[in-house]
Amino acid sequence: MSTPPLIIAVDGPAAAGKGTLARRLAASLGLPYLDTGLLYRATGRRVLDAGADPFDPQAAEAAARSLTPADMERGDLRGPEADRAASAVAAIPAVRAALLDFQRGYGRTKGAVLDGRDIGTVIFPDAPVKLFITASPEARAHRRWLELQAKGAAPAPASVAAEMAERDARDEARAAAPLRPAVDATLIDTTSMDADAVFDAALSLVRKRFHA
Ligand code: C5P
Repeated sequence: MSTPPLIIAVDGPAAAGKGTLARRLAASLGLPYLDTGLLYRATGRRVLDAGADPFDPQAAEAAARSLTPADMERGDLRGPEADRAASAVAAIPAVRAALLDFQRGYGRTKGAVLDGRDIGTVIFPDAPVKLFITASPEARAHRRWLELQAKGAAPAPASVAAEMAERDARDEARAAAPLRPAVDATLIDTTSMDADAVFDAALSLVRKRFHA
């Protein structure tokens, strides 16, 4: 019997450290890595390019269905406007449906590490490793603020915290694939951990699971 490809699902709210962790896990395990947030960010951008409203289901679905690999390479997928547009389109069921096959297909042959909001609950409910990475809202807002500062932006810390809280609330409250840990996910609270400690904890969990 052949072993199914290894899928590692990494979910959690904004700026919890899941992207950094997922990228490092993928590199160390020799697996492809997919940042699924980019799919929603690119969809949101396309809607904005078309002069439409990211909350408009028709415009958002059309954008999701016409995504190309180049859309994911755009330089304007981060920042407050892109964040808001991504979380607006992500609440639309037809958008999520349009992006589902790509995400499932991505991991099917060689396995993958995927990070997002619904990887362990919807995209790969049978993933053998599911991590839910979280941290206090204060720690996450502070990290995001540091990231923005490093890029030369100077937003008020309170506005970074408020935008993040609004986005997390929308991601948690939506009816379609809301942000929540899968029942069988392992929770890692990174509030007082650095990236190395998070990586070590996650890797030892993967190793334990596979006796590797
Ligand atoms: O992970 P990232 O912050 O880049 O995601 C941007 C937005 O895309 C999230 O706020 C969320 O609304 C949406 N998203 C999602 N499901 C995923 C990944 C991202 O709904 N699997």
